[in-house]
Amino acid sequence: MLNQTSSTRTTQQWQQLDAAHHLHPFSDMGSLNRAGSRVITHAEGVYLWDSEGNKIIDGMAGLWCVNVGYGRKELADAAQKQMLELPYYNTFFKTTHPPVIELSHELAQLTPEGFNHFFYCNSGSEGNDTVLRIVHQYWAAQGQASKRYVISRHNAYHGSTIAGGSLGGMGYMHEQMPSRVPHIVHIGQPYWFGEGEGQTPAEFGLARAAELEARILELGAENVAAFIGEPFQGAGGVIFPPDNYWPEIERICRKYNLLLVADEVIGGFGRTGEWFAHQHFGFKPDLMTLAKGLTSGYVPMGAVAIQDHVAQTLIAGGDFNHGLTYSGHPVAAAVALANIAILRDDGVIDTVKHDTGPYFQKSLREALAASPIIGEIQGHGLVAGMQLSPQAGSQTRFENGGDIGLICRDHCFANNLIMRATGDRMLLSPPLVISRSEIDELVEKAARCLRLTAEGLG
Ligand code: PLP
Repeated sequence: MLNQTSSTRTTQQWQQLDAAHHLHPFSDMGSLNRAGSRVITHAEGVYLWDSEGNKIIDGMAGLWCVNVGYGRKELADAAQKQMLELPYYNTFFKTTHPPVIELSHELAQLTPEGFNHFFYCNSGSEGNDTVLRIVHQYWAAQGQASKRYVISRHNAYHGSTIAGGSLGGMGYMHEQMPSRVPHIVHIGQPYWFGEGEGQTPAEFGLARAAELEARILELGAENVAAFIGEPFQGAGGVIFPPDNYWPEIERICRKYNLLLVADEVIGGFGRTGEWFAHQHFGFKPDLMTLAKGLTSGYVPMGAVAIQDHVAQTLIAGGDFNHGLTYSGHPVAAAVALANIAILRDDGVIDTVKHDTGPYFQKSLREALAASPIIGEIQGHGLVAGMQLSPQAGSQTRFENGGDIGLICRDHCFANNLIMRATGDRMLLSPPLVISRSEIDELVEKAARCLRLTAEGLG
């Protein structure tokens, strides 16, 4: 029995207690417990430290969320002040409070035209649950309750609640779900490298968008409520669709009267150098799911941004029977406000757009130009997906794709770099405050780990 205070525990003791009592998300607990978890103890800027004193560069901003970097006192101060003033009150029963009012006002200013209403929750998954509820309420309020189908894509990630997992297109998640939300169907993803062989990216982009039209016609437009997509797929591998994909998807949604939902949980709050990733791709959604970068992950918060025509229908439609104890939590709202102030007033997003984003993309491509295992690099701003391939520059795939990514990830562990593996794609998405010299270090380490991976293949 271990009874020391936490500050005196050794790494091994922490690992033993973790294995004894903590079930981790998306993990094989048996093998994790045998190997022992890495214990992260503190962080500053773009760096993490583990309990063994290793300094690790965080190429993933936590889970794509710590946009303003670690250790921002402004966020801690905002949380402390709010906790002392009003730590909690709900927004049910004809009640509100200043932080949620100020945050909504602020979001209305910085989101694209027409987004003037926001519904709050605690995560991206709950945001997408909320999207489903709003979509159904919207069509029901207009006397078109038959519009119930939501079309999503294979290999999309929209969260891990039952609705989030159902909206997502991850087969390995669907297999473990006892039931899925009905009236959700999936079409092909715009993943040209993996699925577009024999077609140009432009041909493939149109072909994948045409799947949306075909599915609408099959279901009957009078039965289809919405299309949902991440502007670029994040967890699916940082997949950037061909340029003509989103304009065509938008055209089809308008033609058949579907709501267009952009899941901006990863793309929102500056990742591509725009406030929202759909602005990079040039389309206009009716709803946006927000989380992660809204508070830079310092406290949990999610939201759905709602275009005026949808909001007005909801407002005129009577009771909307949806809400969460922590909808619009005052501490989360105060932290979100402080986070947005940093992103805007420190010019963080402008810097990503004009300086660090282009520098990162160029450096990465130069460093990996001669790599024998890079099939393609996609990305913009401070997000990139590196496709591994046994034949550089070709669309050939490794036979057992997932293994190569895990080998590379092991090298990253050993080299104090956080780089994520999704099958045979390696992903980077560092904090948006990363400097040029830190980008140099990040890219040098990523290139080293990819070189070690290639050398290991013999
Ligand atoms: N949507 C997208 C695009 C995501 O990437 C994620 C999480 O990674 C989610 C939704 C779910 O967010 P959360 O984990 O906060 O529930």
